[in-house]
Amino acid sequence: MTVVAFIGLGVMGAPMAHNLVKAGFDVIGYNRSPARADALVARGGRRADSVAEAVRDADVIVTMLPDSPDVEAVVLGEGGVLEAARHDALLIDASTVHPETGRAVAAAAQARGIRALDAPVSGGEAGAVEGALSIMVGGDEKVYESALPVLRAMGSTIVHVGPAGAGQTVKAANQLIVAGTIELVSEALVFLDARGVDLGAAVRVLAGGLAGNAVLQRKAPAMLARDFAPGFRVDLHHKDLGIVLAAAREAGVSLPLGTHVAGLIASLRAQGGGSLDHSALLLQVESLSGRRNELNALGAPPA
Ligand code: NAD
Repeated sequence: MTVVAFIGLGVMGAPMAHNLVKAGFDVIGYNRSPARADALVARGGRRADSVAEAVRDADVIVTMLPDSPDVEAVVLGEGGVLEAARHDALLIDASTVHPETGRAVAAAAQARGIRALDAPVSGGEAGAVEGALSIMVGGDEKVYESALPVLRAMGSTIVHVGPAGAGQTVKAANQLIVAGTIELVSEALVFLDARGVDLGAAVRVLAGGLAGNAVLQRKAPAMLARDFAPGFRVDLHHKDLGIVLAAAREAGVSLPLGTHVAGLIASLRAQGGGSLDHSALLLQVESLSGRRNELNALGAPPA
């Protein structure tokens, strides 16, 4: 039985690990706050008390952590994945990090003989629960092929997009598109509401035309119900747009709309919206239009 170590059992990691158990893998999970492993154990997985314990006997190691410093600490740090894993192990980093981090992790892994892929995902918590994530994979093609049984347990659209770091570059483009689309869907909803149009009817017909998109389909119902529980936190999208702008700058590319939306997300976060779902951009458009001001009630984030 293939042993999969899973590190980072958060909003996304927990359901991804459950799907690996369902697919018949022997999954051993580790999370910094240990209670997050309880659900995995209840579903037939195992718990480890450290990164080293999780990866020691693993054939495959999946990391699903918030940001680049977390991945660097867990993979490259003392007692981390590269120090403790078997030399024939395969490391799949599914976190969203800077493409440069993806390349640095792959190079450090290769230096130890460990195969590595960057494999960030899209599809949100629902996609993770349903095992229907879109997974964009960077790294050696043969290594990608050897990872497919594990990736197929977590996703339904799995594409090899290039060498190490390329998966993260595609994920950055994904986050640029999603942020811009949420902003435009928010602006459309506020505009329609101000013009007295029934929002449910408008969303139904818009979804069937050229304006139809996954954000409108999946996020608008919760936006109309004013449910901004994450999902995907504003804090994480702020982190991702930092990656997008830095990578675009390095590539000499100008992103006028992306830069503007990054500023709007930074502002939403500064006003205390960091732990809301990114669809809370709606609150900001409402506030800018003088229609509702729920942002005041959020309070400033802790210093
Ligand atoms: P999350 O904060 O819910 O989960 C991260 C988990 O990692 C937490 O349980 C945390 O305790 C754990 N963790 C942090 N540092 C650790 C360490 N040093 N050792 C062990 N565990 C540690 O975040 P998430 O929403 O699951 O997102 C994870 C990654 O996936 C992020 O990079 C995010 O940008 C990306 N992502 C998220 C979504 C989404 O909809 N939430 C969608 C696609 C991609």
